[in-house]
Amino acid sequence: IFITAEGPDGAGKTTIIQMLAERLIAEGYEVMQTREPGGIEIAEQIRAVILDQSNTTMDARTEALLYAAARRQHLVEKVLPALEMGKIVLCDRFVDSSIAYQGYAREIGVDEVWSINQFAIENTMPAVTLYFDIEPEKGLERINLNKGREVNRLDLEDLAFHKKVREGYMLLKERNPDRIKDIDASKSIEEVYSQAENLILQAIKD
Ligand code: C5P
Ligand code: MG
Repeated sequence: IFITAEGPDGAGKTTIIQMLAERLIAEGYEVMQTREPGGIEIAEQIRAVILDQSNTTMDARTEALLYAAARRQHLVEKVLPALEMGKIVLCDRFVDSSIAYQGYAREIGVDEVWSINQFAIENTMPAVTLYFDIEPEKGLERINLNKGREVNRLDLEDLAFHKKVREGYMLLKERNPDRIKDIDASKSIEEVYSQAENLILQAIKD
């Protein structure tokens, strides 16, 4: 089953995905944990180009195409084989990130970004998407406290940009109420974890 984690920066996706993978594996589930952009060599190379702070002239459509390219390679090389083996695939970000960040917040257009992504993913979509919701102010505060976090080009964006990202996610939620499940990510790590775990265990049963 293909499960993705989505949400604004600083929502705790990476932390919770890591905890979910460890605990589900300890319970005997076959889990493959991965992330986007990246997860495999070629896609990590593309990620480095996208997130390099010195690439100040990156065009928004170029950026969107690079995300889609990284997504394609990661899907073919890593996600699809794991799904074929029957694993629970936990992926930190997927196509919804592109819609929210590039389509909505960078104003390329939701339909435009969806169309290049359809080309990249063909028909593979997550069965369940965990949406980690948090006020951008609180998310950015967490990022500033997390000294171990890698520096990236998006750190240069302001609060207004991150508010638009969240609006983009709200729009996606309205359009995909069955797939996208809400998690209140402003709570403590253990509380956020248990919301996420419950949703996953439910999804596995269905
Ligand atoms: O989730 P992660 O921290 O690995 O993402 C790296 C950066 O890329 C974040 O700052 C995120 O906001 C940004 N990003 C983006 N567009 C995407 C996916 C991620 O701007 N489609
Ligand atoms: Mg993260």
